[in-house]
Amino acid sequence: MTGIAERLADLAGGAMLDKARVTGCSRLPAGFVRVELEAEAFRKATWVPGAKLQLRPRRGSLSLRTYTPVSWDADRGVTELVAYTHGTGPAANWFERVTEGQTCEVFGPRRSIDLREATGPVLFVGDESSVALACALRTVTDDVSYVFEARDPAGLTEVLAQLRITDRVTVVAKSADRAELLSRAGHDALRTADTLIVTGDAATVHAVRRDSRGWERKPRHVKGKAYWAENRTGLD
Ligand SMILES: Cc1cc2nc3c(=O)[nH]c(=O)nc-3n(C[C@H](O)[C@H](O)[C@H](O)COP(=O)(O)OP(=O)(O)OC[C@H]3O[C@@H](n4cnc5c(N)ncnc54)[C@H](O)[C@@H]3O)c2cc1C
Repeated sequence: MTGIAERLADLAGGAMLDKARVTGCSRLPAGFVRVELEAEAFRKATWVPGAKLQLRPRRGSLSLRTYTPVSWDADRGVTELVAYTHGTGPAANWFERVTEGQTCEVFGPRRSIDLREATGPVLFVGDESSVALACALRTVTDDVSYVFEARDPAGLTEVLAQLRITDRVTVVAKSADRAELLSRAGHDALRTADTLIVTGDAATVHAVRRDSRGWERKPRHVKGKAYWAENRTGLD
């Protein structure tokens, strides 16, 4: 971007986005970061578990990156995010370097998956980018079986344990054919599958949705959303 375009992006960003302050930041294993944000605008916002919050990770550009609030305290104007810092994208860089006291610009919360509609036993399928959604789901129901795929299964298992997601959790290694993930999800669906929630890698979301149509016990409700896709940036 040219200097003028960058300044225009900053002006537009200042007008459209809300300013938030980082009031807490803790590093978790395997490249995860937990960040608490405080903003005056958060006091007036209505949060629906599963909603998204967008962040502008780089000045001079209007491109936003999307995260899932884990919880929302309107009285204090505080929310919390759990981000996975894979690679070198602008948001991964921002979360890797973030420190308490820093400010940032955000947009939202806005509707994404409405977890309040997750009825009955829930089968939750996801990856590293879905961890915050799993935490948000806990504010709605405990009746959940989780199947995660991960580049570092032991690391993700440790992170989930620190976030107190320990019951009925399976973490498999991410693989190109997703055979183990699909087999585990289909197996868990036999006992728990009124609602299927699947998020994360676009290719996995597609594969799980397609596979679920052939499960012996099909979920009555399916909520799926791609959170990222290979070689695509800022998917929303
Ligand atoms: C509704 C919604 C909610 C989301 N909530 C969360 C959340 O709470 N926590 C969270 O960590 N993420 C979440 N995500 C995913 C996050 O927005 C993306 O991972 C985003 O692309 C990160 O931006 P970036 O600038 O780091 O990378 P980008 O510039 O967007 O991408 C750079 C490269 O990294 C790859 N990439 C992006 N994400 C991943 C990933 N997770 N694993 C491996 N490779 C990846 C891309 O394919 C691309 O090649 C959510 C996405 C959506 C749509």
